[in-house]
Amino acid sequence: MPHRSPTARAICAALLVLAGIEARAGAQPPQAAAPTRIGDALPPWTPGTLDIHQIATGRGNSALIVFPDGTALLVDAGGTAAEIPQSEPHPDGSRSPGEWIARYAKRHLADSAAGIDYAMLTHFHSDHIGAIADVARGVRIGTIIDRGFPDYAYPAPLEDPVSMAYRRFVEGERARGLVVERFRPGARDQIRLRRNAAAYPAVEVRNIIGNGEAWTGTGTATRQLFPTLASTPRPDWPNENMLSLGIRIAYGAFRFYTGGDLPGTGEPGFPAWHSAEALVAPLIGRVDVHVVNQHGSMGEETAPFQQALASPVVIIPSWAPSHPAPDVLKRMVESRLPPTERSIFATEMRDATKIVIGQRVSALAGPPGHVVVRVEPGGGRYWVMVLSNADESDRVVAVKGPFVAGAGR
Ligand SMILES: [Zn+2]
Repeated sequence: MPHRSPTARAICAALLVLAGIEARAGAQPPQAAAPTRIGDALPPWTPGTLDIHQIATGRGNSALIVFPDGTALLVDAGGTAAEIPQSEPHPDGSRSPGEWIARYAKRHLADSAAGIDYAMLTHFHSDHIGAIADVARGVRIGTIIDRGFPDYAYPAPLEDPVSMAYRRFVEGERARGLVVERFRPGARDQIRLRRNAAAYPAVEVRNIIGNGEAWTGTGTATRQLFPTLASTPRPDWPNENMLSLGIRIAYGAFRFYTGGDLPGTGEPGFPAWHSAEALVAPLIGRVDVHVVNQHGSMGEETAPFQQALASPVVIIPSWAPSHPAPDVLKRMVESRLPPTERSIFATEMRDATKIVIGQRVSALAGPPGHVVVRVEPGGGRYWVMVLSNADESDRVVAVKGPFVAGAGR
């Protein structure tokens, strides 16, 4: 397991200070009763608050969302094992990524015994589903939502080893009472508040896209963004990333989008619809915070995507040295599209990545770690906090905010 040298850490800290992006000690606390200061542990979730945690295990994507009534949603349970030697496990390699995710979730859920109500798995790659069995061993999961249930046959039978391991897990857990559902594009009642929905009518989870079928913005109507398989030569069929699930969460004026590994640009000579970001962007519309597609690893944050979402806060769910790719970060940092200021956070920033990115690393709004968006009751304002992932203390290492939700919309 690689370790950063003290010298590298010191240089990194100096760069952050020079760039003026060290922790903002003057930021207003999210809750008057539980002031957040640098070095303090994250104050616990309280009723009425929406918490979005992008968890940084260094080995895949996973986000925990705790809604204002305590309903909990896990988006992806990523966990590559040792097969990607370039990854650096956090807090360390003594546990599997799924164990770390389950432990993190239990520390931040409204009710750790009640567990996670929904786990939505965006697509069938190991950095998004590889840890689901370990997560489920550590914390109760009520319902799994994926893009393939029950036949796992679109666009062709999913029979690769990662998908097959997942399908066996699903089959076994269903026998023990786990509910599994296929994602319904356009729906706003598949992921809903399960504990006290009547108290929070301003919360909505809208299923935006899945398997290329996208919400049109009217009722629950959808349309297929890709041509039919029958009319498409097999080498041009949508790949696994293009079939990712995406949702938009609203709470009052606050909007958030997350959507797996939808690609930004297709390869030269491929059909135009392979540039999936451009197709889905207008259907998402403006948001306050979004998670960068495909870890920002190849061609994401295209102009149509930035233009439609116009997010003041952007989270890169990075975990490998190629996250983010230099061109993707450059497009975010040097964009002339609104908003005039983007606060960009990343869950991981490897030394190798910094070497490739160079000075542009100083454009990030905080150090890497767990990135937590905390939305105040009613959804009017929000803060972004970075928590240390060096251990399980959940110490706050950076705070930025308050941001006003819906500003500019
Ligand atoms: Zn991925």
